[in-house]
Amino acid sequence: MHPLHTDLGVPPAVNASGKMTALGGSVLSDAVVAAMGEAARHHVVMDDLITAVGREIARATGTEDGCPTTGAAAGIAIAVAAVVAGTDLARIEALPDAGDAPCEVILPRGHSVHFGAPVRQMIALGGGRPVEAGSANKVSRDHLTGAIGPRTAALLYVQSHHAVQKGMVSLAETVEAGRAHGVPVIVDAAAEEDLRRWPGTGADLVIYSGGKAVGGPTSGMICGSARYMAACRAQYGGIARPMKVGKETLFGLVQALRDYGTEPTGDHRARMAKLADRLSALPGLTTRVVGDEAGRAIHRTELTVDPAAAGRDATRLAAELAASGVHLRDHQAATGRLLIDPRPMKPDEEEQLVARLTALLEEGTR
Ligand SMILES: *Cc1c(COP(=O)(O)O)cnc(C)c1O
Repeated sequence: MHPLHTDLGVPPAVNASGKMTALGGSVLSDAVVAAMGEAARHHVVMDDLITAVGREIARATGTEDGCPTTGAAAGIAIAVAAVVAGTDLARIEALPDAGDAPCEVILPRGHSVHFGAPVRQMIALGGGRPVEAGSANKVSRDHLTGAIGPRTAALLYVQSHHAVQKGMVSLAETVEAGRAHGVPVIVDAAAEEDLRRWPGTGADLVIYSGGKAVGGPTSGMICGSARYMAACRAQYGGIARPMKVGKETLFGLVQALRDYGTEPTGDHRARMAKLADRLSALPGLTTRVVGDEAGRAIHRTELTVDPAAAGRDATRLAAELAASGVHLRDHQAATGRLLIDPRPMKPDEEEQLVARLTALLEEGTR
């Protein structure tokens, strides 16, 4: 802990919720911190660095080329700008006014999510006009193709636990539809763990967060064909300028990409089963281990809160825990369920979590 944690009155938080931007993304490895620290001590030619980092992104994702960004959100805006303006300098400098260029970005309505900000707004920032196809819980291939016209710039597919998981057109169908109509497909795979899987679907531009699965600093990346990546990087002379990535971040991202997947992640399933067993003894909690809602290889401990026995509902319990510095995954709190994500939690933090929960639920022990 740094003295500034105390001076600023913002102590480190126990993160049991996952790789959340709201909790600072990832905790960085010593190697990543060292790379960032050393990068900070030297000047470099930034254009050359960005191009070189693009090659590293390409290697990690199995694509032709890449473009680093400040995050996946910036990645959406820049990818949209790239398909709208390409490398045409006049168009790049006129964005977010797309002029007479096709600028409609079609997305399944169930993918029009809020990840901390609306996806729609990131599209607009890049000069696109979001067009939602179908309904919130039902979008077929025909809904997508029916929306494609002369004003279409791209199809956007959001691969995320935030998106509606049923009744949606598949990515394979989306890529087919894009191919059939000569329209590029952008995939927001911000929090996905498999960096090669989504470009492998044939999508043209794929966006990842660098601060989530990869474990890098607050950053992001776009990968895809050389033509689109050149267009993405060209946006740094336009709308991407206020989203520019620093040299320290670029070094940290590359180090994280090089280290990604080399360290065994361990089987969190057994760890979560043990935790579920311990917490099941607390009043008002029913526990079990559940798989990830978006199909990633993550197992979490699920707590179902019985408000009568626990003395508060799940939303309230999550708020009380957060007030004491312990943050659970609370997307499903409205249905009485809280999740514990093993990935960002150190063993001593797991003990702090158990202690806080025990203190709150077992009256008088606090
Ligand atoms: C987290 C997230 C983003 C934003 O990512 P940042 O790297 O924080 O900008 C965008 N889309 C989805 C689906 C996300 O989960």
